Amino acid sequence: MNEAQRQTRLSDNWQAVVQEVQAATAAAKRPLDSVKIIGVTKYVDAETALALVNAGCQALGESRPQELWKKAEAVGVAEPVEWHLVGQLQRNKLRRTIRYRPQIHSVNSQRLLAAIVEEARAQSQSLEVLLQVNISGEANKTGMMPEALQPILETHLDSQNDELVKVAGLMAMAGWGTDSEEARRQFAATRELRDEMQRRTGVALPELSMGMSGDFDVAIEEGATMVRIGSRLFAGMLEP
Ligand SMILES: *Cc1c(COP(=O)(O)O)cnc(C)c1O
Repeated sequence: MNEAQRQTRLSDNWQAVVQEVQAATAAAKRPLDSVKIIGVTKYVDAETALALVNAGCQALGESRPQELWKKAEAVGVAEPVEWHLVGQLQRNKLRRTIRYRPQIHSVNSQRLLAAIVEEARAQSQSLEVLLQVNISGEANKTGMMPEALQPILETHLDSQNDELVKVAGLMAMAGWGTDSEEARRQFAATRELRDEMQRRTGVALPELSMGMSGDFDVAIEEGATMVRIGSRLFAGMLEP
């Protein structure tokens, strides 16, 4: 595939995803601009990530910090491009990661949140993060058990670091091999958990990062404000 073919294919894929997201948003009777598409570029190189930006995608996501650094160097972090870290963040990767000002979707412990606060302070850099919740209850899933959320939110509020590092909402993934009705139940449970945490703590949690290539339509129906889409955007471009 040459460069022009790649750009054409990406633009077609991007337009198709935008239309499907808009259709799902309209079907859910939600405002069309209430769902952000994050293009997850973990399967492709930095050039292809840049081509995706040229196709119209302005929010990029990576699951590994090193890949985010590499692609953020190549693609840039200036407006309109924004970065999202959707995979696990090790504390020894924090310093470099925060320089690119990503939204971090994968905060999965009090300890990690405290380390992010410390580093944000050191770099005088405000950040937005999401708490990742293990909504499927699978032992091998990353993310916190639902009952861990309230103490973390309350401790963060009490520490008065909530301006510097804003907890903006929750992130969740449907369990492996779930059909769309089971995924829907898990996304609905995530939204209900968010509502309950808002009520109990008074922290505004407007963002729900949920839905990937295979289940973004049901996620949107259940209230997702960010969908993280990878393979669907690169259909026809990746090695089988
Ligand atoms: C890879 C990945 C995605 C995108 O998955 P696709 O099924 O390829 O769309 C979304 N979220 C996270 C956390 C990922 O690791």
